[in-house]
Amino acid sequence: MSSGTGIFGGTFDPIHLGHLRAAEEVREALGLAEVRFVPAATPPHRRSAPPVAPAEDRYRMVQLGIADNPGFRCWDIEVSRAGPSYSIDTVRAARDELGPAARLVLVLGVDAFRDFETWKDHATLLTLCDIAVLTRPPAANLTAENFPLAARKAFRYDPDSDGFVHESGHVLSLQRITSLDISATAIRARVAARRSIRFLVPCAVERYIAEHRLYRQEDGAR
Ligand code: ATP
Repeated sequence: MSSGTGIFGGTFDPIHLGHLRAAEEVREALGLAEVRFVPAATPPHRRSAPPVAPAEDRYRMVQLGIADNPGFRCWDIEVSRAGPSYSIDTVRAARDELGPAARLVLVLGVDAFRDFETWKDHATLLTLCDIAVLTRPPAANLTAENFPLAARKAFRYDPDSDGFVHESGHVLSLQRITSLDISATAIRARVAARRSIRFLVPCAVERYIAEHRLYRQEDGAR
């Protein structure tokens, strides 16, 4: 039987399929009963680049994105708390709610984990919960270095398409499975450039962004 709770914090500006698939896989792999998505109000480590969409919109998009998945829940603890959102406070609140014996796992991507030592009370945090660090592209990129030696000479790497062009003109590209190279930054840039974000975010989130005119450059969005 599944047991335990994952805490998956982030800006979710907006939530995308990279987040959702990562949370689903970690929930399954660790046998967690639930993963709580926790949108941050003001992430302390992003003061120089604050979230673009208001917290209410980011929270609503998380709700829409997880709506049909019974293993996911959207937790408002950070958006409803004034001031910067510190993971230590969120994990403490979860620990208080669930009790000392409950299995609690903080879930974060490897990019976020790199800054871990700068987090408030990080040493204490390690004593309160397990941590699951998720791999995140572009670590799995296909590069000239890991391309099969025998075939390499016949190909030229094309950085624009992140693919290899064969001397015949055909292109070879890596099809990433599971490892989803999706970022909220790229999604916002696409919206600003009037490009499609379909299949990068859940349909309901795509609709919400369009209806609320989020991330459009003329509105001051980045
Ligand atoms: P931005 O591009 O605005 O920095 P983001 O796409 O990195 O946003 P966040 O809300 O900052 O999204 O990420 C929340 C958490 O999800 C972080 O721990 C991050 O490492 C992880 N994460 C985000 N995108 C992916 C992905 N495609 N695959 C795996 N983990 C991801």
